[in-house]
Amino acid sequence: MSEVTCKYCKKKINKETAYSIQKGQYYCNENHYLSALEKKKNVSKHSYKSVEGSDRRAFTDAIQDLYVNKYGWNKQKINWQILMNMVNNLLKANPTWTYETILYIIWYEQEILGLNLICAESHWNPLSLVDYYALEAELYYNECQKVSNSADNYTDDIVTIVKSKDKKIKYKSMEFDND
Ligand SMILES: [Zn+2]
Repeated sequence: MSEVTCKYCKKKINKETAYSIQKGQYYCNENHYLSALEKKKNVSKHSYKSVEGSDRRAFTDAIQDLYVNKYGWNKQKINWQILMNMVNNLLKANPTWTYETILYIIWYEQEILGLNLICAESHWNPLSLVDYYALEAELYYNECQKVSNSADNYTDDIVTIVKSKDKKIKYKSMEFDND
């Protein structure tokens, strides 16, 4: 098989199954194509609205969902400028992370540790402890991967996050910073 590189996440992928709408440009999937578009246009760096279907949009949707449905906030009060600045810094400091990595750590803090993420102590910011719990979340993730590799069929859902009532994000083949 011949290998190409995803233009968005730089992962090596199979040329035959890669997503491509332009000759010589390959992506893991449509989502990474849209995310690359978003990055290129650099649209609305500080606002909530991002390209529909992009990783960034999935991220902001999940964060908004957390504020509104878990903590009963009015969505107009969410400070996207602070949040997205923080996200950009986290992604910069941890080159192997994606938006999904950050969501996973938030999920871990929320569902596994039972932390209250949006409160006065966190300055009403669910990202404030992401750095602190990153390693612990990674260990947990790796542990779950082992379990799901040893049992064959029914463990796909072990590491899932309930994003909203009917949508689930699955965490598969995520990369944490390993050095
Ligand atoms: Zn990719």
